[in-house]
Amino acid sequence: MRIKYVIVGAGLAGITMAERIATQLHERVLVIEKRGHIAGNVYDEYDDAGIMVQRYGPHTFHTDDKEVFDYICQYAEWHEYQHRVLSYVDGNFVPMPISLETINQLYNMNLSQDEMDDFIESRRVPVDEVRTSEDVVLSQAGEDLYEKFFKHFTKKQWGVWPSELDKSVISRIPFRRNRDTRYFTDRYQGNPRGGFTKMCRRMLDHPEIKVLLNTDYKEVIGDLDYETLIYTGPVDYYFDHCYGKLKYRSIKFVFETHDCESYQPVASTRWPQDYDYTRITEFKKMYGQKSEKTTILKEIPCDGDEPFYTFPTAEWRVLAQRYRALAAKEEGVVFLGRLAEYRYYDMDDVVKRALDCFGKLKLARESREATS
Ligand SMILES: Cc1cc2nc3c(=O)[nH]c(=O)nc-3n(C[C@H](O)[C@H](O)[C@H](O)COP(=O)(O)OP(=O)(O)OC[C@H]3O[C@@H](n4cnc5c(N)ncnc54)[C@H](O)[C@@H]3O)c2cc1C
Repeated sequence: MRIKYVIVGAGLAGITMAERIATQLHERVLVIEKRGHIAGNVYDEYDDAGIMVQRYGPHTFHTDDKEVFDYICQYAEWHEYQHRVLSYVDGNFVPMPISLETINQLYNMNLSQDEMDDFIESRRVPVDEVRTSEDVVLSQAGEDLYEKFFKHFTKKQWGVWPSELDKSVISRIPFRRNRDTRYFTDRYQGNPRGGFTKMCRRMLDHPEIKVLLNTDYKEVIGDLDYETLIYTGPVDYYFDHCYGKLKYRSIKFVFETHDCESYQPVASTRWPQDYDYTRITEFKKMYGQKSEKTTILKEIPCDGDEPFYTFPTAEWRVLAQRYRALAAKEEGVVFLGRLAEYRYYDMDDVVKRALDCFGKLKLARESREATS
């Protein structure tokens, strides 16, 4: 059977493309997914305690892009939620990102916005040439904030010290001069009621979309007769690692269910100083779920096979660029999403990329039809 469009990967990138092709072009689409479920890294489900959890780390949707928001709202009712993060520093929780509130709570002061500028200015360490991420933080925030918030957190997150990371990794320290303690300041933010997987299931619920789970695309692609391949898997895997493997940072996820209504003050806490984990997430606070139990997730970054974060150094950027050059020459294949493009994308970026990609695909098809 001939299928015009084959999509590798049932994450947000692949699912958005499948939805557009089926509903706008009225063409049949086959989505091939190697995991046993759809939704990629935004996969969520109810655990044994009846708490909605996100299996691949905490996700909150946030965007300023109305087109993207309106698009996903077709498939989700919204639990409006403002994400707040507290950082556990010197034995107390303080708001993150660093704001006037953080500085005042940390140093037990009551500075105004202008006084905060003077305070930060007085802490800065002069650095002759800013080369590393350590230089960036020291020159913008000074020794104490560097030690408390950045030095050990970076080591846990990436396995290397900020002094070993290029300055571009931490190019600017976001200081909020005001008292806004939200983590994201985008106009639209929240989580879909019933979860991201439910939203993705609705997007795929179309007679022209077929999904093949538990299948690596390389097992079946040779048997398929298709016109366009939309590839959202790892770009180096597509090319059989011909230039070597791209580096990713992986995460060990440790879930715990506790017999208490609330485990921590907010949904997300960061642990820059103590323990091996970087974050604890209490999911029910993100979904507004009520229960006498609660499930939390501790994230321990590590080197591992499951790719989560693209590695933010020049070496891997250069290698990714070599793969991108190969990808650009590949006829009839669209490389899309965080793995295929080796870029960190938030969910709204990925949906936007997919909508733009679909726009180009549609245009190319219309011009082909006009000339034939
Ligand atoms: C820990 C963490 C937290 C995050 N938090 C947020 C957040 O709060 N807000 C936000 O906006 N974004 C967040 N993100 C980013 C978000 O996860 C991504 O934007 C989004 O998941 C990318 O979608 P994707 O389709 O590109 O990739 P994926 O979701 O990874 O989808 C790719 C799919 O391809 C499949 N695949 C790979 N290889 C093959 C193969 N050979 N054959 C078949 N299938 C294959 C994979 O199994 C996967 O399902 C976070 C990311 C991480 C890692």
